[in-house]
This record gives sequence, C-alpha cells and structure tokens, in this order.
Amino acid sequence: MTEGAEIQILGAGPVGCVLALALQGSRHRVRLVDPQTATGAGTRPIALSQASRLILERVGAWGGFAATPILSIHVSQAGAFGRTRMDAADAGVPALGYVTDYAQLLGALRARVDVVREAGANARCTIHAEGSAGESRERRYGHDALVARVSADAPSAGMAYERFTAQGPLALLPYAGEWALVWSALPPRAAELMAAAPAEFLAQLQQAFGDRAGRFDALRSRARVPLALRLRGSRVAEREAYIGNAAQTLHPVAGQGLNLGLRDAWDLAQALQDADDPGDARVLARYGAQRRLDAAATIGITELLARGFAGTNPLARAARGAVLAGLDILPPVRRFFARRMMFGPSALP
Ligand SMILES: Cc1cc2nc3c(=O)[nH]c(=O)nc-3n(C[C@H](O)[C@H](O)[C@H](O)COP(=O)(O)OP(=O)(O)OC[C@H]3O[C@@H](n4cnc5c(N)ncnc54)[C@H](O)[C@@H]3O)c2cc1C
Repeated sequence: MTEGAEIQILGAGPVGCVLALALQGSRHRVRLVDPQTATGAGTRPIALSQASRLILERVGAWGGFAATPILSIHVSQAGAFGRTRMDAADAGVPALGYVTDYAQLLGALRARVDVVREAGANARCTIHAEGSAGESRERRYGHDALVARVSADAPSAGMAYERFTAQGPLALLPYAGEWALVWSALPPRAAELMAAAPAEFLAQLQQAFGDRAGRFDALRSRARVPLALRLRGSRVAEREAYIGNAAQTLHPVAGQGLNLGLRDAWDLAQALQDADDPGDARVLARYGAQRRLDAAATIGITELLARGFAGTNPLARAARGAVLAGLDILPPVRRFFARRMMFGPSALP
C-alpha cells in the first residue's frame, strides 16, 4: 500500500468532526480546520436518528453526551382533524430517536479530534464542512424558528410532538425531563414572541399547542433563527467535496439536517479511506452519486412538511388531515415512514 495523502476538512462542526473520526486509522493524514474554538452556547435541540446513533457508535462518540430517547411521536394539526402516532415498536427499534443539544454533542466530538485554526497548502483533497455555504442556491421560508427550553407541570417522558399550525410546524421534544421547542412562526409573530414576557410566551405556546404536554410553567432560554433551504448544485468539484450543511441546509421541522450530514460524512469516509488518491475525480464522483437518492428523498420529505403542511387553505387542511388519518390506519405505511426518517434510504423496500 502506498503512503496516504493529506485530506483537509474545513469546518469542525459535528459533520466535519465525524468525518475526521471515521478517517482515524485510515492511511491518510487528516487536517481538521476551524477558526472557532468555542463549541457555542445557547439552545439548539438536535434529534438524532437511529442511523446517526449507529454512526456515532462506530466512531466511538456515542455515550459522550446526554441523549434522551424518543419512544413515541405524536403528529397532529391545529384546528382540524387528522392525527397519527408512531411508536418505537412500530418501527421495531428501541427508540425512534434521541434528543441532545448541539453544544453538548459538539463538545463531545471535539474532545476526540485535533482541530487547527489555519488551513494548509498540501492537501490532495479538500472537504467542505463549513456549514451553510454562501454560494448555494437559497430559498427563504416564509417563517422563522423560535428555539426554546420550557418545562411543564408534568415531566416529559419519551413522547415527542409535531403539530402543524397555520403559521408553520411546532415541535416539542423531550429533553432531560423538560421540553425542547422548535416553533415556526411568521417573522412579525416570531419577533413578538421573542419580545414577550416569559409568562406571555408560555400562554401563547399553550394556546398554539394545547394541553397534551400539561401546563407549561417555565421558560429557560429562547432564540430566533431565520430559515432557508440552501442547496449546492453539485456536491463535488475538482479535488473538493461538500458534506453536511455545506452541501444542503434544511428546515429543522423534521430534524433531518444533521442526520443527513452524518450520513454524508460516513459515506464519504468509506469512499476516501482506501483510495490511493482521495482527490481523484472518480472517487469523488462515486460519493456524489451515492448520496443523491438519500439527499433528494430527505429534502423532499422536509419540504413537504415545511411548506405543504403550513397555511390555512381549507382544502389543503383536509388533505393534510387525510394524510395523517391515512398514516394512522395504515400501520405498514406508518412503519415505513418511521423507518425512512430514522435510517434514510436503507429503509427503502
Ligand atoms: C433550530 C434548529 C434545530 C435543528 N434541529 C435539528 C435536529 O433536530 N436534527 C437534525 O438532524 N438537525 C437539526 N438541525 C440542523 C443541524 O443543526 C445542522 O444540520 C448541523 O449543525 C450541520 O452540521 P455541520 O457540521 O454541517 O455544520 P455546522 O454545525 O454549521 O458547523 C460548521 C462549522 O464550520 C466552521 N466554519 C465556518 N466557516 C469556516 C471556514 N471558512 N473554515 C473552517 N471552518 C469554518 C464553523 O465554525 C462551524 O464549527 C437544526 C437546525 C436548527 C437551526
């Protein structure tokens, strides 16, 4: 075997770190570059899929951060019929996913890799993992996300909720006995909610969500995130490849962005690991082709949930109700949907 080459990964976010970890022990040298040494503060709940757990286990990072299992997901729409519930048993897995926090996860990953601040000049292959890329095609969503930690009079116990409201989707995820909230709202309403006193914020949340999770009684933190879909035309270029948010930035509604990015990192590591020249156009083209189906399907589902499930048009509402009711009475379809969200294309029949 010939001596390995240098692979440079730009961006030590979770996706870049997982690629670096997956390449540890390969014959190539890895230079992981990030000008930011801090792993970030504040709240960004991350729902990890079962497939992400497997990837994090394989790179030895699972267990290094707190993760609350999701045992059931309840999906409904405000002010109209149609609901469905998916249980881990439906999908034949111990948990549908796990909720953690971005900063915690990143801290655990960064503790296992070496990160340098300056890019080098000798790489045979450069991987872009810098997060949302400026030169991507961008389509703004009509709403922003409010991200918060809240608690209620009853502790969260493994149930996650996804509720489609006229202004956009609202997700409540169980996290350490409390709730992590991702709430889409039109920008003026998002601004109002950011400025509202905590008691008013909780009252508005109660009104939008109902009382399935009990009475909300404390607001721990909140932030407002503008949302856009950003896609690169191609995920490979000459001696370069793109992974994670640098390749595609999705709406957080279905909690798929990082999950998809980790699958990018894993597949790219498999492609690069044994290649004599990791920047060879054929090696990178194989990676690009391999990721096409998974990325297109995940983006499609996320777009359907983010755009198709918002709005007040009565016909659209009825159609959404029918989809949810259909999922509820067709267990094989629900089982497929749950497995697709957890495993990506390997769930395809
Ligand atoms: C509110 C919200 C909730 C979300 N919830 C979920 C969820 O539940 N499940 C899920 O799967 N996904 C979720 N996501 C998406 C998820 O956060 C992203 O998909 C994920 O962070 C992408 O990881 P990344 O490593 O590709 O990019 P990032 O996390 O953006 O990391 C990029 C890194 O690159 C560095 N960098 C930037 N520029 C340079 C440069 N020029 N050179 C070197 N380094 C650079 C940055 O400092 C950073 O460390 C959510 C997103 C939001 C906004």
